[in-house]
Amino acid sequence: HIPVLCIDGPTASGKGTLATELAQRLGYHRLDSGLLYRLLGLAAERAGIDTRAPALQQPGCAAALGQLARELPLRFEGQQVWLGDEEVSAALRSEAAGMAASRVAALPEVRAALLELQRNFRRLPGLVADGRDMGTVVFPDAALKVYLTASAEQRAQRRHLQLMAQGIPATMADLLADLQARDERDRSRSAAPLKPAEGARLLDNSEQSIEQSVQQVLDWWQV
Ligand code: C5P
Repeated sequence: HIPVLCIDGPTASGKGTLATELAQRLGYHRLDSGLLYRLLGLAAERAGIDTRAPALQQPGCAAALGQLARELPLRFEGQQVWLGDEEVSAALRSEAAGMAASRVAALPEVRAALLELQRNFRRLPGLVADGRDMGTVVFPDAALKVYLTASAEQRAQRRHLQLMAQGIPATMADLLADLQARDERDRSRSAAPLKPAEGARLLDNSEQSIEQSVQQVLDWWQV
């Protein structure tokens, strides 16, 4: 039985940083499930599929996106992510990619199509998976489920620092509006809505350093 540690929570709550750190210390594999939705959003754009409303509600659009998700030509090479013959690591991190991801992620056809791909990341010696539905849908039998939150202002500020470090301009007001729109869509959708999994440990890291969060989760993991 391969152990899984899940970290779910709203946008920019620090799931990625925490998951990377935990995977490294435990020597486990890591699944960044948001990346798959971002890849699909980008693949849709490259394929000329409009993911904005009302185009998304057109008959056939959800099926086309489901098909695209099943055939995603993705490849990981160290830190690089390839979509077909394009290196997309930088494009995936943009706010636009995050918004497109959140729109396609609301479709049940897309979520079903990505389910097996995500479960295939479960390999020995173990997996740290982060996203919105790792504990509720993808790995319901996970050994530990953490629901990570932080205040919206904290999250917008962290995202701002991250983008500035990459030289990407953004205003706090825009970032706050973006992440609130994504949270709202993630929570209100009928397919795998964002919520704490049953038995999840709640962790609010607003006032914590990364190291404190890591130690807290490792304490839970060892019990
Ligand atoms: O976590 P990240 O910001 O990269 O995710 C991008 C979008 O993908 C999220 O806003 C969310 O709508 C969607 N997502 C999801 N389920 C996951 C991971 C991400 O619906 N497990």
